[in-house]
Amino acid sequence: MKKALTILVFTALLVGVGAVFFAPPFERKPPKIQLPSSGTYIKAKASVEIGLEDRPAGLKEVTVTLEQGKNHWTLLYKTFPMGTYYVRIPITLEPKRLGVREGPAILEVVAVDRSLWNLGKGNTGRASIQVKVDYTPPRVELLDNTRYVYENGAGAALFQTSLDAVRAGVRVGTLFFRAYPRRIGDQELWAVLFGLPLYAHGKKAQIIAWDQAGNARIIPLNIHILPRKVVRETLRVSDDFIQRKIYPLLPSEDARLSPVEAFKKVNEELRRENETLISRLAARSSGPPLWEGAFLQLRNSKVTATFGDQRTYVYKGKVISHATHLGYDLASVSHAPVSAANYGRVIFTGFIGIYGNVVIVDHGLGLFSLYAHLSRYVVKKGDVVKKGQIIGYTDSTGLAGGDHLHFGILLSGHPVNPVEWWDRRWLRDRIMSVLGPYFKGGKGVQTHRGG
Ligand SMILES: [Zn+2]
Repeated sequence: MKKALTILVFTALLVGVGAVFFAPPFERKPPKIQLPSSGTYIKAKASVEIGLEDRPAGLKEVTVTLEQGKNHWTLLYKTFPMGTYYVRIPITLEPKRLGVREGPAILEVVAVDRSLWNLGKGNTGRASIQVKVDYTPPRVELLDNTRYVYENGAGAALFQTSLDAVRAGVRVGTLFFRAYPRRIGDQELWAVLFGLPLYAHGKKAQIIAWDQAGNARIIPLNIHILPRKVVRETLRVSDDFIQRKIYPLLPSEDARLSPVEAFKKVNEELRRENETLISRLAARSSGPPLWEGAFLQLRNSKVTATFGDQRTYVYKGKVISHATHLGYDLASVSHAPVSAANYGRVIFTGFIGIYGNVVIVDHGLGLFSLYAHLSRYVVKKGDVVKKGQIIGYTDSTGLAGGDHLHFGILLSGHPVNPVEWWDRRWLRDRIMSVLGPYFKGGKGVQTHRGG
């Protein structure tokens, strides 16, 4: 009996000591709370992330509420296990479903720690931000667009939006073409160049405009698509070509690949990688339209391949690979001087795999020209170039059988048929007639609306 009592007392003592050592300490600092910046826009369904931190006591619980006038909604209540010192919590808000009206509201976070301070109730931290609840997408009014667009070709659209639009463009299939805004009075005027490339996997074109909350307004573009003949071409691949052109484009460890494996790797994987890089480089123009009039074609050149050519590659009588040609091939004398096709700014010079030595020029409004397989270039990134100014010399660097220029036109990073841009009449009738008011700084927009 006495022994049992001794054990009991001893155990109680151990637990007591344990409690002192292992219990959350007495500390007086409330939890730290991280919130999105004040003024954050919230649409009908949105998500925000909050961060909580408390040391050394650790976090006990958090309550997140939304408040508007006299109304009050609890968005989240959560308790944390012992030893939680830092968490990030994503919060899904559905203000419209809750009945929150458009306009300002207060997002408040109250977090409590496990300190024994305050008679064991812990320290309470509070933080709040003002959010702007917005369910209404921007207003969009289409002013004009190119009605007849060739397959693989380009068109333009001009539209105006309410001032809350922060991003807009044209969506075609899987592709997005960015529009560029210009403030005119209390309206935002937007111009966009878009393409209908067959690789877009869809032909429906829509204008889409977003506000800061992410609300989107979508309106269809009425376009008649004109077919253009697609060239199918079979190219015979020789062992000599594979030795000379394919293996040098691969890292040294790929030297053991068979000729067919090596060819497929370059023509498919490396091609895809190179095209992704080019798309990224040419995704967004840095400024307003710089081009003037038709684009220049390589002097005294002969077209040896066109845009969209479907190429089939045959090696020793067997089909081994396919590719789509995304530019025009122009052959002249060897090492022929290459001119900038129009006014613009050089945004890239360098070696890009199958394209060899490349120069890319930004002409503004999402329009870029690309010059590939060059021997060398005589401009550098950032240079402003004039139409006709020599920027490099032709060669067969990269995956080219002979000396020629591969010339490309990209809209928002997506290659389209360059042939149209050499055509003064097409440019005037299909592009400039639509974008005129944008270039004139808005003059004539009103008459346009009437017509
Ligand atoms: Zn080419």
